[in-house]
This record gives sequence, C-alpha cells and structure tokens, in this order.
Amino acid sequence: MQNLLVKTLLALGLGALAALVAGLVLGPAWGWALLALWFAALLANHLRHLRSLMRWVQGPAQGSVPEGAGVWRDAFTLLYQRQRAEIRRRRHLARSLARSRQAGRALPYGVAILDALHRIVWCNDSCETHFKIDAKADAGQPFTNLVRQPEFVQYVLGGDFSVPLELKRAQSDGLILSVQVVPYVDSQWLLLSRDVTQGARLETMRRDFVANVSHELRTPLTVLVGFLETLQELSLDRQQSAGYLKMMSEQGERMQRIIGDLLTLSTLESAPAPPPEERIDVSALMQRLQREAELLSSGSHRIALDADAGFDLLGSEQELASAFTNLISNAIRYTPLGGTVRLVWQAAAAGAFFTVEDSGIGVEAEHIPRLTERFYRVDRSRSRETGGTGLGLAIVKHALARHQATLEIESEVGKGSRFTVKFPSQRLVPVRMRVADHTTA
Ligand code: ADP
Repeated sequence: MQNLLVKTLLALGLGALAALVAGLVLGPAWGWALLALWFAALLANHLRHLRSLMRWVQGPAQGSVPEGAGVWRDAFTLLYQRQRAEIRRRRHLARSLARSRQAGRALPYGVAILDALHRIVWCNDSCETHFKIDAKADAGQPFTNLVRQPEFVQYVLGGDFSVPLELKRAQSDGLILSVQVVPYVDSQWLLLSRDVTQGARLETMRRDFVANVSHELRTPLTVLVGFLETLQELSLDRQQSAGYLKMMSEQGERMQRIIGDLLTLSTLESAPAPPPEERIDVSALMQRLQREAELLSSGSHRIALDADAGFDLLGSEQELASAFTNLISNAIRYTPLGGTVRLVWQAAAAGAFFTVEDSGIGVEAEHIPRLTERFYRVDRSRSRETGGTGLGLAIVKHALARHQATLEIESEVGKGSRFTVKFPSQRLVPVRMRVADHTTA
C-alpha cells in the first residue's frame, strides 16, 4: 500500500517537475499544457487498467488476471497470488470432500441423510443395498414411502430413537438390520443401518442350543430322579431293585454320552488346527474300522471293505477315526439286522473319498440338509433307543472342516444312505513315500 502511494506520488511529482521545467524554459502556457497532458495520460492509463480489472472481475473465477504496468502491476500481482492461493484451497477442499464422500460410500454401515420431512438428501452404497433403493432415482422421496414396513414407519415417525430398531427385511433374503435415527444439522436426520443377520442367527442358535441341551439332559434326569424316589418310597425286592438300578444306570450313561459329545464338539471348535504333517496309514485304519464295525454289529450286518492302497492322509488320526466311526456306527444303528454296510476308500492325486454306504432305513430328502445340526434327529425315539445323542454328525462336520474335507449325504427312504467324505489333494501323500521313508530309515 505504501509502495503504491510512493509510486503514485512519484509519477505526479515527475509530471509536475517536467511541467515546471517546460514553463520556465518555454513559457507558463507550455508548462500548464504539459501538466494537463500529463494528468490526462495518467488518467487514461488508470481508466484502461480499471477496465481490465472490471472485465476480469466479471469473467470466470479461474480467468487469468490481467497484466498491468506501474502501480497496477503490483496490484495485479497481488491479485494473481490471491487467485492461485484460492485455487489451491479449492482443490484441497474438493479432494477432502471427495475423500469423505468415498469413505461415506464405502462404509459397511448404511448412512442416509434425511431432511426434516424424512426425504432422502443423500445415501451411501450400503444403505442402497440394505433397503434396496436407488440413491439417484429415489433422492427427494420420503424414506417411509420406500420402506413401508409398519414397524419401520412407526419408528421413524414416532420420534423415540433411544434404542435402535431391529428390522427383518423379508424382500432381502431375510436380512436383519439394526436401524437407528440420529438428529443431524439443520433439523435433518441421519438414518444409520447395520447388517446384524449373522449376529441374530448366532444368537438364535445359541438360545436353541441351550434349550436343546437343557431338554436333552432334563429327560434322563427326570427319569433318574423318578426311579430314586420309587426306590426310597417302595420296599422292593432284590430283583425289582436290580431292574430299577439297571434303568437308572442306562439314564446315567446317556447323560454321560451327551456330555462327552458336547465336550468333543467344544474341543473341536476351540482347539488349534490339527498338525498337517501327521501321516495316517489309511489301509491300517480302514482294517481297524472294519473290525470295530463287526464288533459293534455283533454279526448282525455284513460289513464290506473296499479300499485303494495308493494314498495316505495327512491330519489328525484321532479326529478322523472318530468322525469315520460316527458314520459307521450310524450306518449300523439305522440299518435293520441282516443289512449291509460298505466302507470305501478311493484316492487319486486330485482328491480322495471315504464313503459309508448302508442298506438301511434311509432319510427323506427334506431332512438331509439339517442332519449335521446339533440335536437334529429324524426319529428321536429311534436315535435314543440306539444310544444316539443327536450330536454325532455335528462332530463329524466339525472334524472334517478342520481337515478341509466336506460331507455329502445321499439317501433314499427304505433303500439306504451314502455318506461321502471328500478330501482335497493337499491332504494326500502317495503311499510309496511312506515305503521309501521306511527303507531309508
Ligand atoms: P444320532 O445320535 O441321533 O444318530 P447323528 O447326529 O449321528 O445323531 O445323526 C442325526 C440323525 O441323522 C439321526 O438321528 C438319524 O435320524 C439320521 N441319520 C444319520 N445317519 C443315518 C443313516 N446312516 N441312515 C439313516 N439315518 C441316519
């Protein structure tokens, strides 16, 4: 500013000095004429720059600042610097805004900004997925027109947002959302949604599990207590007492089996993955399983074995043997006397199969997908009579998952069932490697 004043005064002073010299040399008329001319030139120069300035101000914000001379050069340079700084600030702001928008869009939570009348101002991708809406097409629509479930409309319009609403979306594959409305700036609202389907399912499973365990244990316990009371109240002879004691011990064993299976399940769930380097001699295992099956069946079934000798398995022998035994024991328990149970081990470099086939009672197709659920039984009393706990296939499924193996079930009522375990190639080693190991040792 000071610079500007000095330069202006200097220009005026220079003109006055030139006019004074001209006045002294050529006469006062010439001096005045030169002074007037000087002022006119100065004014014209300022007007020209002022016009450039006006044009620039009225033009686009990013337009280039005009160039000037004298005092105007300083002024325009300052304006140019200010314009550059402003452009930088705007770019920075635009980048931050874009980043915030991207973060908002990528959030795993649904976020929608609603105006005072609950119309959509903006919403992110998750919100679109959760409520099956289109951010662009539905912008400006009241949210309650797009999601018309009565409990949702009541929640949004009711105004009590102290607790989130759990909303089951029927049209979105049973998606369960936790929805909450929070006040936002300028009497707008933020509608937040979170997918809690998994958590809600786990909670239902947990509740069902506790109810099932309680029920399964309460039944034998009630019987046991009943027998105890009978023994205390009635004077029974030796033979009757022995009969009651036998039944009591059966109920006790049943509880023991349930608790044992529950512990096995919990160990399988929490134990670290089995060491991949433990090698299982499958041929020996298959022969052992066949012998055990014959013992279990006590000669009531034909137990056939058909095993390839090419490959061994890598994994926990104890866990896999227990899973295979469960499948074999089921085959025997659900196959009438005289039936056949066939064990098959087929292995190739691409993968291996362990199959247990029986000619038993079979299972109706509708039950098959649920057989590996804990305590799921097609026929409760048959399972109980044969000493089942309803946990066997759940244990099998867990033990197999720990070996990246899967279970396939095929069955036909009255004809029999086939339970096939599939192992991936990385769980197999050729038998010749075992022979070579032994030879080197
Ligand atoms: P359980 O102790 O009741 O046998 P599992 O978990 O081993 O429990 O099996 C679940 C249910 O699957 C059984 O109750 C039975 O209804 C059915 N099931 C299992 N294996 C067979 C089979 N080989 N043949 C027919 N039904 C079977």
